[in-house]
Amino acid sequence: MDEVKTARGEEPRTAVAEKNTPFWWEEAPVRPLPRQPLAKTLDVAVVGAGYAGLSAGLALAREGRSVAAFDAMNPGEGASTRNGGIASANIRPDHATIARRLGEEKAIAIEAEGKVAREFLHDLVRTEGLACDFRLVGLFKGALGHDEYEAMARDAEALAKRLGIQSYAVPHAEQRSYIGTDFYRGGTVRMDVGGLHPAKFHAELLRVALAAGVTVHSQTPVISIERDGAGFRVVTPAGTVQARQVLVCTNGYTDAASPFLRRRLVPVRSRIIATEELAPELMARLMPKLMMMGENRKLAFYYRPSPDGRRILLGGRDSSRVGDPEAPKLLLRKGLVNLFPELENVRLSHSWFGNVAMHRDMLPRIFEKDGVVHATGFCGSGVVWAPWIGTRAAYKLMGDRERARTAFDFRPPASIPLYRGNPWFMPAVIQGYRMQDRIALWRASR
Ligand SMILES: Cc1cc2nc3c(=O)[nH]c(=O)nc-3n(C[C@H](O)[C@H](O)[C@H](O)COP(=O)(O)OP(=O)(O)OC[C@H]3O[C@@H](n4cnc5c(N)ncnc54)[C@H](O)[C@@H]3O)c2cc1C
Repeated sequence: MDEVKTARGEEPRTAVAEKNTPFWWEEAPVRPLPRQPLAKTLDVAVVGAGYAGLSAGLALAREGRSVAAFDAMNPGEGASTRNGGIASANIRPDHATIARRLGEEKAIAIEAEGKVAREFLHDLVRTEGLACDFRLVGLFKGALGHDEYEAMARDAEALAKRLGIQSYAVPHAEQRSYIGTDFYRGGTVRMDVGGLHPAKFHAELLRVALAAGVTVHSQTPVISIERDGAGFRVVTPAGTVQARQVLVCTNGYTDAASPFLRRRLVPVRSRIIATEELAPELMARLMPKLMMMGENRKLAFYYRPSPDGRRILLGGRDSSRVGDPEAPKLLLRKGLVNLFPELENVRLSHSWFGNVAMHRDMLPRIFEKDGVVHATGFCGSGVVWAPWIGTRAAYKLMGDRERARTAFDFRPPASIPLYRGNPWFMPAVIQGYRMQDRIALWRASR
């Protein structure tokens, strides 16, 4: 275990986090719900009670459908209470890559849908009165070198022109009024990205879904989904339900109940560290505008202030696959100190991980397989995408073609050769990305 000196040069103390549970659970812990009797029949059975499953359930219940959501853990215990709360609707492949693979029209539609999906989230929070510390503070993205800065500046200008989004370049000379680091060579800002408290957001979604009539069964895994005449038999340890329709919203926690999806989604650990409370003057230097923060590296860090503006939370990829080892925490800590050398002696209060769901084309998805609808594949950006796609999937189930419309409803993600749900190759993939990032950093510094 790494040890560092305190700010006052006293006894060495551990550099790794005090708690291995999400910082977010301090104010909004995940809990089991009271046991509910299992309905014999349902209009819709939803598998998974994260953002996607609850948003879908809410839309279905509001239209008078009988709907139950089943979760193998406590509702929200998957990624939906563990994430960074950055409401970006990021899409990993760039415009040119999507256009090459799926055509220019699709690429334009996907970019435009990001704007609509972000606005949908803002409206959802406002109209439902979800108390989740949502603030439209903007996102600063740092450039590693001059060429990257130039390309990002052009993209920011194009974004403003194409979609009317307030976005602009920040030259290196002005960087410190956005972020207290010299690590980047300038960056860009877009003001359509906000931040929220992810566990409060989930708890509030759960509250309105329950009030709308959704039954939520916690700690009730769906073991199998079997076709039965015009509907499905949904088997759980608590009994079997006859459902007219099934919606699978299990994303990075997909298990053997969905073997088709499991061959297509790779669960990848993402980890976050939270600092202890920092002095107000230090926070004002490091994050003067309290914006969300990101970068373009393959293994990019995403980071932000806590909603009360007193801590920094920084996340990134974690190549571990079992247990909760110390090494990935220390790697993130090192990344934090690289960005902000002033934090060399900082104490970490929390470090935790969760699964994001990656797949081959890295585009969120609604798709149908053997009559079962899936809303999934958010690739680490589900704060906006999961409620949006979950709701579109609900309208699809209800046959409301107008409101179900989305650019993400097309063929299922491709399967991954030699993969059945055990991502044995991930440590090697992450090593490869790490190497590419080192090379990019070296090139940028020349
Ligand atoms: C550390 C971390 C940081 C992240 N940061 C961000 C961020 O800043 N911004 C952003 O946009 N996104 C972020 N994400 C991604 C975001 O959290 C997810 O995309 C989103 O929460 C997905 O929601 P979901 O409802 O699809 O899945 P989840 O919330 O993961 O829910 C899936 C649920 O399915 C349940 N389940 C699985 N199998 C079964 C079964 N057989 N029966 C019953 N239940 C089952 C699981 O128990 C789980 O609760 C992050 C993710 C992680 C892990």
